[in-house]
Amino acid sequence: QAKVAGKNCYRFYSRAMDQAVERRVHLEHALRGAWDRGELSLVYQPVFRLGDGAMVGAEALLRWKHPEQGLIAPSVFIDVAEQSGQIETLGPQVLRAACEDAVAWQRARPGADPLFVSVNVSPRQLRNGDLPNVVAACLRETELPPWLLHLELTETAVIGDEVHASALLSRLRASGVKVWLDDFGTGFSGLSHLRRVPVDGVKIDRSFVADVLRDPDDLALTTAIIAMAHSLGVTVVAEGVEKEGQYAVLRERGCDLAQGYWLGHPVPAAEFLAQLP
Ligand code: C2E
Ligand code: MG
Ligand code: MG
Ligand code: MG
Repeated sequence: QAKVAGKNCYRFYSRAMDQAVERRVHLEHALRGAWDRGELSLVYQPVFRLGDGAMVGAEALLRWKHPEQGLIAPSVFIDVAEQSGQIETLGPQVLRAACEDAVAWQRARPGADPLFVSVNVSPRQLRNGDLPNVVAACLRETELPPWLLHLELTETAVIGDEVHASALLSRLRASGVKVWLDDFGTGFSGLSHLRRVPVDGVKIDRSFVADVLRDPDDLALTTAIIAMAHSLGVTVVAEGVEKEGQYAVLRERGCDLAQGYWLGHPVPAAEFLAQLP
């Protein structure tokens, strides 16, 4: 009996695995040329300063509308692009589009405080040492002031190769671009990294923000991250603010910036431009 169940189990899992592999292969194939076919686009989520509630910039988030399957989550297709190497062409296209959009925002609000654009950079883009050149070309061609471009890197992109990463980040920062560590606090060695890796800001992962009102440990950790970051001169951004109470507690603890559904959802580029205050 057990043997039969085991055998069925095995067949079940192996079929599920085949399907997962098949789906990956399909997505990898379908993703080729998707940018040029207009299936990929950027949405922007506004970022606010907690002190006075002013909008100070926005994060660019990539969306893929597959012709048959509809919207595919970035957590799925970014991984496919990363594994297959397609991120090496996609990354610079995203960067270029985000810089162009940010230039349009400044033109739409002459005399107003400029808005930064924050772009996610995957580990593979960082490992491929070309990033500083790609960024420099992008800034030159779009004429976006470098300090209005923020690059978001995850801790995992930096861990394991701190020497190479530090040198690269230093080069980027020397050009005036700001570097933020994304999903901060999810890696074990988070805080100690701040000593060795030069960054301008950290984005507290939304898993901490989600529980700041309920879980005293998460509130304590968030408060500690803010204090530690500030003592190192690093800006703190909270992501995933979904409730007014979270916003209030973060502001009270001295967090600098925040984004999240309570403040504003990501919206298509054209809509973001049209709605600018
Ligand atoms: P991330 O950089 O940490 O982006 C924040 C994610 O949280 C986004 O998910 C955003 O839509 C979502 N979010 C924002 N506010 C809230 C909130 O209040 N509650 C909740 N539950 N979620 C919120 P999204 O757009 O699905 O992106 C997922 C991840 O995919 C991003 O995480 C980023 O790591 C990656 N990604 C997205 N676009 C790009 C890209 O152009 N390049 C690279 N390399 N990665 C990207
Ligand atoms: Mg991000
Ligand atoms: Mg994040
Ligand atoms: Mg918790």
